[in-house]
Amino acid sequence: MASMAPRTSLENDRVRTRPRRSARRWSVRHSRLLEAVYDGFSWALEGLAPVARALPPRALEAAFAATEAGVKGVLFDCRMCGQCSLGATGLSCAMSCPKTLRNGPCGGVRPDGYCEIEPEMPCVWLDAWHGAKSMRGGAAIEMAFAPLDHRRHGRSSWMAVIEGDAAPRTLAPARGDQAAARVGAAAPAPGALERQLRSGRFCITAEFNPPDTADADAICARAKPLLEVCDSVNVTDGAGANTHISSIAVCALLARAGYDPVMQVSCRDRNRIAIQGDVLGAAALGIRNVLCLTGDGIGGGDQPEAKPVFDLDCTSLLATLRTLRDESRFLSGTRIDRAPALFLGATANPFAVPAEVEVPRLAKKIDAGARFIQTQFCFDVEAFREFFARFRDRGLDERCHFMVGVGPLASARAARWMRSNIAGIRIPDAVIARLERAADARREGRRICAEIVQQLAEMPGLAGVHIMAFRQEDAVRDIVEDAGLRRLTATA
Ligand code: SF4
Repeated sequence: MASMAPRTSLENDRVRTRPRRSARRWSVRHSRLLEAVYDGFSWALEGLAPVARALPPRALEAAFAATEAGVKGVLFDCRMCGQCSLGATGLSCAMSCPKTLRNGPCGGVRPDGYCEIEPEMPCVWLDAWHGAKSMRGGAAIEMAFAPLDHRRHGRSSWMAVIEGDAAPRTLAPARGDQAAARVGAAAPAPGALERQLRSGRFCITAEFNPPDTADADAICARAKPLLEVCDSVNVTDGAGANTHISSIAVCALLARAGYDPVMQVSCRDRNRIAIQGDVLGAAALGIRNVLCLTGDGIGGGDQPEAKPVFDLDCTSLLATLRTLRDESRFLSGTRIDRAPALFLGATANPFAVPAEVEVPRLAKKIDAGARFIQTQFCFDVEAFREFFARFRDRGLDERCHFMVGVGPLASARAARWMRSNIAGIRIPDAVIARLERAADARREGRRICAEIVQQLAEMPGLAGVHIMAFRQEDAVRDIVEDAGLRRLTATA
């Protein structure tokens, strides 16, 4: 008889919380009814407030916290963050998301709607958008929620109702672009990438995965072939949750060499204190373009035993950096002598999340300050066209520059693997069949990519493409040339 391995504490936690997850799904399905019950309860709490205020606050807080944890734990899988947003998140507790996102879902949702990190759990945030649809106050999910105040963890949100401070904190939408919004401040001149995007010419960026080395010349030499054919390169930040040379350092080297790179910043590895300091430092080193990402879970990386941070999510990171830029201050309120001149961007995943969720989710990022968007790989232009039509219907293409992610497929086998293992990758069977028939699948993959780029270049409202070819700088050149983009960019 085979012996059973003892469960880890995480596995124990999963087993314990499984019934609570089923209850959460029940609550989401009955969100309209429960919303009415909860509204009635909040109303009663407000009515009792004068009596409650006469009681010793500590004892009341302890009694409320214990009762609330029990009741909301069963009904909503509540984690007692102390800043309840259930009424705005379809009665699905956002804190049971393994990345504790305040603005989700992330782009890692699996094709079956389950979680990137815990594959046996339905995505908490897809449930939230689903539950919000049937609620009277469901539109509140489209607001951008502020980062958590971790000091409130374990405290009672019912107590906050008594104290008249129950509404979840939200982020104000961006009002203007750049530091011109500051009284008396001259807007800093835009960088090369921003100028190119504003000019309306079709723009090309590429992902740069720098070599892990302390040799600055080797890093610049690897980037050069990309920068010869692209308008800018994105320097990844711990791509795939693996340890690599820092994005700031590589961007600083490229900026010193006269380029205008895009620094990627992931919320996975640093908290709000570290990120604000890093971005201000980056700006002092001549880096303007910042792509804000929530970041992948650490499970697929080279050190899955590490502690994930996720203090901010992409939306709250954008709003944080906007505060540095437009208000010359850190989140704490401390003044910055000279504000950083930042051009902020965010990611989109048109195929991982249904468009009716992805488009309003992107609208939140744009409200928070994103002025350029780069997407996950697109191999299915027709499906993308449908998504982009929704995006344009909302007028979002007039508020940001939208760039579509593309890349070469190495073989039919690689394509099948990507389709089954990477969130939001949709590869039509016809593409895989073409790779299978090709004598040189690698070359064919580049041709397919170039054809996709040509189709995208003709799509109204698109600002450009972002080419992702992991450590294949020569492939990027082939794609740009095959697509005729040099001619397009030169004559447009
Ligand atoms: S897929 Fe992403 S947003 Fe959804 S529960 Fe998992 S980590 Fe959270």
